[in-house]
Amino acid sequence: MRQSYDVVIIGAGPAGIFAAIELTKDNPSVTAPTVLLLEQGQDIDVRDRDQLTRGWGGSGAFSDGKLILSTQVGGWLADYVPAKDLNNLIEYVDGVYLEFGGVAERFGDKPDKIKKMKRAATLADLELVPVIVRHLGTDICLTVLKNMRQYLNSKIDIATDTTVAEVVAEEGRATGVRLADGTVIGAGAVIAAPGRAGARWLAAEATRLGLAKHANQVDLGVRVEVPAPVMEPLTDDFYEAKLVYRSKRFEDRVRTFCVNPYGEVTKERYHDHIETVNGHSYADRRTANTNFALLVSTTFTEPFTEPIAYGEYIARLANLLGEGIIVQRLGDLMRGHRSTPARLARGTVRPTLGDATPGDLSFVLPYRYISDILEMLAAMDKIAPGVYSRNTLLYGVEVKFYSQRMKMSAGLETDLPGLYAVGDGAGITRGLIQASAAGVVAARAITKASNC
Ligand SMILES: Cc1cc2nc3c(=O)[nH]c(=O)nc-3n(C[C@H](O)[C@H](O)[C@H](O)COP(=O)(O)OP(=O)(O)OC[C@H]3O[C@@H](n4cnc5c(N)ncnc54)[C@H](O)[C@@H]3O)c2cc1C
Repeated sequence: MRQSYDVVIIGAGPAGIFAAIELTKDNPSVTAPTVLLLEQGQDIDVRDRDQLTRGWGGSGAFSDGKLILSTQVGGWLADYVPAKDLNNLIEYVDGVYLEFGGVAERFGDKPDKIKKMKRAATLADLELVPVIVRHLGTDICLTVLKNMRQYLNSKIDIATDTTVAEVVAEEGRATGVRLADGTVIGAGAVIAAPGRAGARWLAAEATRLGLAKHANQVDLGVRVEVPAPVMEPLTDDFYEAKLVYRSKRFEDRVRTFCVNPYGEVTKERYHDHIETVNGHSYADRRTANTNFALLVSTTFTEPFTEPIAYGEYIARLANLLGEGIIVQRLGDLMRGHRSTPARLARGTVRPTLGDATPGDLSFVLPYRYISDILEMLAAMDKIAPGVYSRNTLLYGVEVKFYSQRMKMSAGLETDLPGLYAVGDGAGITRGLIQASAAGVVAARAITKASNC
């Protein structure tokens, strides 16, 4: 490691990795910048599932590798990049995934199927948001990340197990980073890509550096698990059908998220002590079930301004009652009693998350969320009959924390010149493709600025 670099990148998730790849692309008219990529977690060959959100590959490493090729889903980059440029950027990023070992098959790009399903969704009081999905699967996703690691190895300096404690600023601009062991490394530009694991840290840094920021929403709900044939009307053609519902009782926005055909329900850890639920599927092996999240997006009443704390509170409540994740049959929830191992055994859906505790989600989720979720399941049953069955399993809770956003330019530079903020940790993305694209945006802005 040198004492100073042209660019220091914090976080080796998709946003940080794509920034590094873009900065080191062969370009005869530009001298290659010196780049250091710092990651607090372990390297790709060493890390395991217990470090779900930390290490080379970030939260993406053990993800399902569903590349959502959309300007509208997976982030808010459209707030910074004009629509046409963003479309091109997403295609470009998709191409890089292919180059490093991604798979060619795409779902959701057949106009006749979209038209038919849009109609069925409308009649069920739902909106279908068509998105094109390239599904890598967890195994291929890991291969792609390993290939990127190998490619970057000879081009930049990489330090894993290395935590950045602070962004260093002097005379009104970012000049480097201070590591947890006190070492200071100088930088012409700093790209902060700390993801969900580092979102709180980045928000605290923004406060310390006096940068303006505003809170994002929190999405809260459950993961639903059904026999795979129930969801086949949607998953066969769309893989990940994005359905949106506006609830009658509260007029809240409820949506499907992260659909995993023939997949498994998994656990996720936040801040090392909160367990939430998630899901994934492999490209080369199948379970009998499909799972997906139903998430409710709400804005909160004043004077409350801590949506992340609220989401954490609900997740902790589930952990308190279930000593981890709770699973409940829909039929049990509707009849007002908890699920037990015996009741689960009487159902037709075998839980793929074996150590979830049979329990009662009505003790965890406020009435508003339960009501919204039940309404959405009933609506979905019209296009995927069987979703609203007493056998359907609900796991709780699933929470998506979107970090606070700082004020940023079109090149994703913050109000502190030289400090760029990208990816999920910056609150501007929530998926692999847009996080990767954000890294490219910042890298291009830095290259442009250094050539001016
Ligand atoms: C289980 C799971 C499944 C998912 N499935 C999908 C999917 O199928 N499709 C999809 O589009 N999205 C999926 N996602 C979301 C996707 O993984 C994220 O949107 C994406 O990884 C965000 O990229 P990022 O680079 O912004 O942050 P991250 O991937 O979170 O990476 C940030 C990195 O920064 C490091 N870091 C943080 N702070 C510091 C610090 N101070 N110093 C040094 N390093 C630091 C962290 O350790 C981490 O490795 C999934 C997420 C999870 C958890």
